[in-house]
Amino acid sequence: MKRFSFIQFICSCLIVSMILSGCTTMHRTELASQDSDHSQIVSESSKISSEQTQQESSKEETSKESSKESSKESSQSSSSKTTSSKPASKPQVSKPSEPETPSKEVSYPKSPKGLNTVYLTFDDGPTTMTPQVLDVLKEFGVKATFYVVSGSGSKYASYTKRAFDEGHEIAIHSACHDYKKIYSSKEAFFEDFTKTQNWIMEVTQNTTPTLQFRFPGGSSISKKWAAPSVMNDILYEASQMGAVHNDWNVSAGDATYPRPSKNQIVQNVLPMAMKLNEPVILMHDSKDNKNLCAALREIIPTMLEAGYTFDTISNIKNPAQHRIYSTSGKPVSGGGYVKRQFGA
Ligand SMILES: [Zn+2]
Repeated sequence: MKRFSFIQFICSCLIVSMILSGCTTMHRTELASQDSDHSQIVSESSKISSEQTQQESSKEETSKESSKESSKESSQSSSSKTTSSKPASKPQVSKPSEPETPSKEVSYPKSPKGLNTVYLTFDDGPTTMTPQVLDVLKEFGVKATFYVVSGSGSKYASYTKRAFDEGHEIAIHSACHDYKKIYSSKEAFFEDFTKTQNWIMEVTQNTTPTLQFRFPGGSSISKKWAAPSVMNDILYEASQMGAVHNDWNVSAGDATYPRPSKNQIVQNVLPMAMKLNEPVILMHDSKDNKNLCAALREIIPTMLEAGYTFDTISNIKNPAQHRIYSTSGKPVSGGGYVKRQFGA
């Protein structure tokens, strides 16, 4: 009985120890599997959170795209609104940007940048006024044309040289500016013309003779002084030599006495000039034209703001001529005189 009990005791101990070690192993396994589950859970949750992040960021992108689309739509609908007469189907079209442009477009309808060019022209210099005019032109960085009088201007030749050196165009006006003498005959006219042409070459040290000129008084005023046949002879001769004359289509009205105020000059110039694609503005480089520079300081920035480019007269596309001349040598209208293009 005692032997059996001893054996039973040993077996019981073995069984108990086996059971205990089995439970420990099972527990370890359970823990390990729990850990792996947890890590899986963590990785799953991190996957989810990263997916959520991706979803959110993709949502942002989507919202960005949709906002882009909506802005596209609004711009398309606003542009279609301006180009089409159809009523807008959606009332949410943004209107705030519309009121900014019309005032300028209404005021300056022909002034898209780069398409319109203004030609400032100064007659009768050089005088003591010339350096002041040049200073204003330099201030705004614009170019102009000086139709010079070589007789009276000879003592101010250095001003003409300065104008040339600063990129302005020097063109022929006259040597004596005496209507009676100049328009007495074709020969008298071209004698005067050639004197000024040579003077310009000498003063500017430019060996190329200019062929740009302006009739003293303008081509239309010459009918008071020149016989119809003389004027047509002059025009024909000029065309044969390739000489080009420009009158003007805008006048500053600054050759009158008393000299106009700054505001008068500005009002004479801007309303008319703003209507033209190629305004050729007549001004006078006279020593007592005291309000000229103040007027230029208003006219130039206003025209720059309106989109005009300032250039020199050789670059004009359509010369501003008060007379339309037939190169056949015959007048295009009866009586020896041709039609005025602009009505000087
Ligand atoms: Zn003149």
